[in-house]
Amino acid sequence: MSDHETPPDDKADKNTGETGPEPRWREDGALVSDRFGDVYFSRDGGLDETRHVFLKGCGLPERWQNRDHFTIAETGFGTGLNMLATWQAFRDSPGQCRQLNLISVEAYPLTKSDMTRALDEWPELGDLRAGLLTQYPPPEPGVHRLVFDGGRVCLTLLIGEAAAMFGQLQARVDAWFLDGFSPSKNPEMWREEVMDQVARLSAPDAVAASFTVARAVRDRLSARGFACNKAPGFGRKRDMLVAHREALIRPEPLPDRRFAIIGAGIAGSAMAAALAARGQAVTVIDPHPGLERAASGNPVGIVMPRLHLGDDPVSDFNRSAWRFATAWYDRLPLVDGAPALTDCGVLQLARDGDEAARFQRLARLPNVASRSGTVVDGEQVCFLTGTGNEHGGLWLPEAGWVRPHRLCQALRQHEAITVIDKAVARIRPSDSGWDLFDATGEVMLSADVVIVANGLDSRLYSQLDWQPLRPKRGQITELAAEAGHGPNCITTFGHYLSPVIDGRRIVGASYDHWDDAIPANWPDVRDDSDEGNRAALAAAMPALAGMLGHVIDSRAALRATTPDHLPLAGPAPDPENIAAVLPGLYLLTGLGSTGLVTAPICAETICASLFDEPLSMADTTAAAIAPARFLERAAKRGQVTV
Ligand SMILES: Cc1cc2nc3c(=O)[nH]c(=O)nc-3n(C[C@H](O)[C@H](O)[C@H](O)COP(=O)(O)OP(=O)(O)OC[C@H]3O[C@@H](n4cnc5c(N)ncnc54)[C@H](O)[C@@H]3O)c2cc1C
Repeated sequence: MSDHETPPDDKADKNTGETGPEPRWREDGALVSDRFGDVYFSRDGGLDETRHVFLKGCGLPERWQNRDHFTIAETGFGTGLNMLATWQAFRDSPGQCRQLNLISVEAYPLTKSDMTRALDEWPELGDLRAGLLTQYPPPEPGVHRLVFDGGRVCLTLLIGEAAAMFGQLQARVDAWFLDGFSPSKNPEMWREEVMDQVARLSAPDAVAASFTVARAVRDRLSARGFACNKAPGFGRKRDMLVAHREALIRPEPLPDRRFAIIGAGIAGSAMAAALAARGQAVTVIDPHPGLERAASGNPVGIVMPRLHLGDDPVSDFNRSAWRFATAWYDRLPLVDGAPALTDCGVLQLARDGDEAARFQRLARLPNVASRSGTVVDGEQVCFLTGTGNEHGGLWLPEAGWVRPHRLCQALRQHEAITVIDKAVARIRPSDSGWDLFDATGEVMLSADVVIVANGLDSRLYSQLDWQPLRPKRGQITELAAEAGHGPNCITTFGHYLSPVIDGRRIVGASYDHWDDAIPANWPDVRDDSDEGNRAALAAAMPALAGMLGHVIDSRAALRATTPDHLPLAGPAPDPENIAAVLPGLYLLTGLGSTGLVTAPICAETICASLFDEPLSMADTTAAAIAPARFLERAAKRGQVTV
């Protein structure tokens, strides 16, 4: 498969999602849901009610003070008022809590305009409203991650039905805000299956609060180990509910740890940035931190979703990765004075009628439609590219291009990140973590946690030599070009063509066999690869191909691919006992053809494991990228002993 090609055997997508009821603004200014026959918020002291019922009811802010991190989950995101009130209380709280994780579920998300109008009710929430609205995602079903205050506050917004969405989550919840429409109007939200998930996700000393004291709710919580009590309600309401788990065991605080990352490509750099954002000091080790021998060293790379019609682990992962990456790129600071991602849009040309039909089906998927992805006809293709295309195409406006080598450098520009330009030849467990050795056999660094992110060469280390990584050579060709002719977006046709960037258009990328070796043999540039790139362009866009000039430059590199087209991201299994992990050792490799989209969510998934944070993808998706899967499959085939 070439970069961004999609396997041809996709099936119809089941993840179509349901569109929500149209909420209605009443003349008195209340926002009403006809589906639930209730108002979204009380215009009479709604914010004070939130503070009373949920914050005070859960013993906040005192409860999160002197904790490393604290996780609150809510049923029913609605207008986001509870979350904003909590974020504000966290900002104002003098305690030492490093990170606040908020989780909320919503089956019928409000539109951004309804949300904006609703939040206008509370000017006292100040810039927090704008902060939330800027990142508020399109109503695409799935897990969305919003990050505020430089990573101190994270919101995991689950769009979908509560029991199903919580069922896919891995988290340890310290406090529950049991909100949403009342049990009589929305019994679904309070049913046994949702309460099962509340119990499953709760920390041993979790607390819960709710505006309702309905008998059924109290019984369901009690049956799951919560002691329920009534407390004075807000305003005219006599009672509210406060509940706590019987076992009052406080979680152990996380120890201070030394972090090392091997490899400075997009995998290592995204990982370093994720750790630095969590206030951790980290050392990145790479003999070529300028990325001269890295796939991430390309001058330009395409950031676009890999779309599937199927509902398998590969589709789930690619959907999650794209959702995460769009928000991640939006949040990045400027790189060289410009946004890291130039979102000029990507036009995928349909090469025949079958592909056009497939694009029609893709465009109806929630993850495409909710992001304004749309089918375009031949005339619109002509408008976008200056060249007609009989079968039209698929237009993805949020996609674009980055300068990967500059992006990696920018991600590592943080006072908490130190870079050592050496190769790690060997790693060995020590009493307190891991020792990293250079080629002379000297220990260059000791660390408690090591994240191995050096692509194909991660197999240098005896603990990780079982990885089924395969090299695929790729070459991009830079052609002299003048602005004003041809597309200003990225155009794909199996290969891709960039807009004019610095007086050139980039055609990428070849996808070639490469003999495996450890360490990898670095490829040279080849004329036949340039010719292949030009030929692909000439076949798809003959008029434009004829207008482009000579080859200014070319670059060849290696992709690290896996047999199931998914990366390896997570704890490294112990090859001698695959049910166990090697403590403190993590892998982030196998990014194949899409590392610029997939590295950010992989780094976040590793952080979830390191810091006991909610996962930013479904737990089944995290399992699908867990490195141990290959050893487990081999064990099933009888190739390794468990
Ligand atoms: C031609 C081409 C075009 C591509 N186009 C796109 C695209 O448009 N969009 C997209 O999303 N993806 C694209 N990809 C894929 C993408 O580039 C990769 O998925 C991604 O760069 C992999 O990042 P990485 O950090 O895992 O590995 P790399 O970027 O290869 O980085 C690995 C690093 O590890 C270091 N290292 C190696 N051995 C050691 C050691 N012993 N000790 C310490 N460090 C070591 C290396 O020096 C290197 O810097 C393309 C790939 C190629 C080859």
